Amino acid sequence: MKKHALLLLLLPFTSQLFAQTPELIKKDGLMLEYRCNAADFSPVVKQKLIDAFFKVYPLEIKRFNPASATYVIFDVDTAYKGVAATGNAHVRYNPEWFKKHPEDIDVVTHEVMHIVQNYGGKHVPGWLTEGIADYARYTFGINNEAAGWKLTDYKAGQNYNNAYRITARFLVWTEKHKQQPTLVNQLDKAMRSGEYTPEMWKQITGKTVDELWAEYILDPTI
Ligand SMILES: [Zn+2]
Repeated sequence: MKKHALLLLLLPFTSQLFAQTPELIKKDGLMLEYRCNAADFSPVVKQKLIDAFFKVYPLEIKRFNPASATYVIFDVDTAYKGVAATGNAHVRYNPEWFKKHPEDIDVVTHEVMHIVQNYGGKHVPGWLTEGIADYARYTFGINNEAAGWKLTDYKAGQNYNNAYRITARFLVWTEKHKQQPTLVNQLDKAMRSGEYTPEMWKQITGKTVDELWAEYILDPTI
């Protein structure tokens, strides 16, 4: 029992041995705190992640939410096993993902859109939250082609609430085919203020989301 207690005491110190001192990068009224505990993380990828932040985050803020957080944390964390995740302006990245996918820099573009969205505890559909984040990646991404990332082509069996790239493509289609270039702005704003309802689709486009999807599958060109 004593041994276990000692190990628990030592654990925080041993993990700190590998942690680099956080860096604070300031530019254009924004502050990025960069943390990394992966000793072998590529300095090239690191710089690309930072550059992507300062390039795309201001564009997303400008289009969607000027009141977005100005202090953001990037945390390259070996303890995190997904691709990336965001909460409270704190983005965690899995270093292993970027070892295997060094061009996938627009993970940043998707994740920082979640900071702009800032839906908090609002009751919003998760599929639309993720669809809008991938819509932002499609719209503002800087390295999607090199990463082999694109919107998912339409295939039978999909639905608008499949989230991510499937929903993002449907958003792009609806904006174009219904001549509503601010559709995503309106949905995003309502989701942030807690005023989103499924009826919004009809109020904006004249069609329910199900009617729009029925049209989409007949002619899914974008
Ligand atoms: Zn996401």
